Amino acid sequence: MKLNKKKLIIIFSIAILIVPDIIINFKKDIIIFSLIIISKICLLIFFSLILQKLTKSYFISYITLGFLYLSSSLIETINTCILNNYITLDNIKALFYTSKSEINEFYNQFYLYFLIPIFIFISFLFILKKIKIYNYNKNNHIIIYSIVSLFISISISTYLVFNSPQIFSGTNIIKYTFKKYYVKQHPFNIFYRAYELIISRSKFNKYKLQKDSFKFNVLNKTDSLDRPDIVILIIGERIRYSNWSINDYKKKTSPNLESIENIISFKNHYSNGNSTAGSIPYLITQATPQKPILAYSQKTIVSLFKEAGYKTTWISSQNIFDYIENKTEPDKVFELYNKKHTDLDILPVFDSIIKTKNKKFIVINMIGGHGSIPKSFNKFKPNSLLKKYPLSFKNKSIFINDYDNMIFLQDYVLSKIIKSTKHENLSSIILFTADHGCNLFENENLFGYGSSNPTEKETHIPLFIWGSDKFIKNNSKYSNLIKHQNLLTTNDNVFYTLADLADIKYTSYLNNQSISDSLYKEPSTRFVYINGTYKEYNNNNNNNNNNNNNNKTK
Ligand SMILES: [Zn+2]
Repeated sequence: MKLNKKKLIIIFSIAILIVPDIIINFKKDIIIFSLIIISKICLLIFFSLILQKLTKSYFISYITLGFLYLSSSLIETINTCILNNYITLDNIKALFYTSKSEINEFYNQFYLYFLIPIFIFISFLFILKKIKIYNYNKNNHIIIYSIVSLFISISISTYLVFNSPQIFSGTNIIKYTFKKYYVKQHPFNIFYRAYELIISRSKFNKYKLQKDSFKFNVLNKTDSLDRPDIVILIIGERIRYSNWSINDYKKKTSPNLESIENIISFKNHYSNGNSTAGSIPYLITQATPQKPILAYSQKTIVSLFKEAGYKTTWISSQNIFDYIENKTEPDKVFELYNKKHTDLDILPVFDSIIKTKNKKFIVINMIGGHGSIPKSFNKFKPNSLLKKYPLSFKNKSIFINDYDNMIFLQDYVLSKIIKSTKHENLSSIILFTADHGCNLFENENLFGYGSSNPTEKETHIPLFIWGSDKFIKNNSKYSNLIKHQNLLTTNDNVFYTLADLADIKYTSYLNNQSISDSLYKEPSTRFVYINGTYKEYNNNNNNNNNNNNNNKTK
């Protein structure tokens, strides 16, 4: 084929419009990479030919095609650079509902990636200008060419599905191929996710009445002797299990918690999601990845404690209320996220509440891995406290030091909360866990969380439970916790465990779901909610990072 100027422009325009596909598949095996790219090019040619036939103009067909591809490309490019996957509903929610500090973090670290979409856009305008001079030549075989292109694209996608574990999982292969390789990829994915967002909004509206009138029907409202005076749920942000020295991490990241008595650290605890939006609903409601509707139709753990006669307070260091729309449930809410702050600012607020005289249920959601680190927690060096480094594998040790300093701060704040609670000398219980974990460049240079195939590091999170001496004394629930600390547990258990520890009996309580119940039943698999569906993980394969081969997708 002789390359003239016009052909070069066509090749360049194709390359420009499929940039996200090139980035996302770049690290794959060369044959797979080539097949995917050929499939993408064929799909593009198919659309392009059809449009040319209809409009009889290169210029108009390129504008139309450009609108479809470009609006997707600009967003998908950034998402694929950061998370190595096409944008998901949770990624969009995080973008819309995220706190200001999260956005800043995003822009500070990833400003370079914004240059790629700008480059794509300028190139698009350049091609548009060039194409204007070409006249459309009538070609009788255009329909045949377009059908052949589409056929090649579909054949390759089907071939790829037939070489994946999906073929053995009983999935409807045609439907699966269509969804995975077309609907959930560039250029359609972004429109599909927008549609999903509208559906999710309408779900909140649909179940609003049901939720407003929802009651847990607490059976023992009058104070029982076993009921603790203070119950605290602390939710960490982007906190993984393995970077705490209390969990045998080699660096001394949690010296304070290590010196406190009565703390149980659970070894095999997992989140039910790998993003904030995909995890918080399953942590604070009775919803599970298999029954997500309960997050819309029922109230949260706050209302359970309210029904049981507790005064409820929520200290919010990060705005997570929008994920579950429960800001009106607590008796009092402290919104620390409205101004510049760190997790240290939780402490004075907490100390003012803990002294009040009544039975208390306090939820604290920390900003954790999205917050900034005060200078006094600059323990592990070198780090990016004074100088910003680009996020790359080369700077791995810098980002790990940043992460460890953040854990060091969490350790300090948690230990202060425990000490203030201990000082009250009442029957008290504190539970700490996180919304999800985080990759720190251990798996294919992956950093962060929210990937479409969650790694072990994205979901293995800490679960610490502390009880005061008064609570522990003669309490079989605390000894059950110790007995169960090595078993597989998930954030699905948090709701039932807190209810059980507070001796709250209500109609939908499940004793085999509470870790403090003698009847706790260790599950053989765990579930991770992901984009409206869930993945099932076999407990034996938890440490295998290549989840492709050992999980099932619904
Ligand atoms: Zn999060």
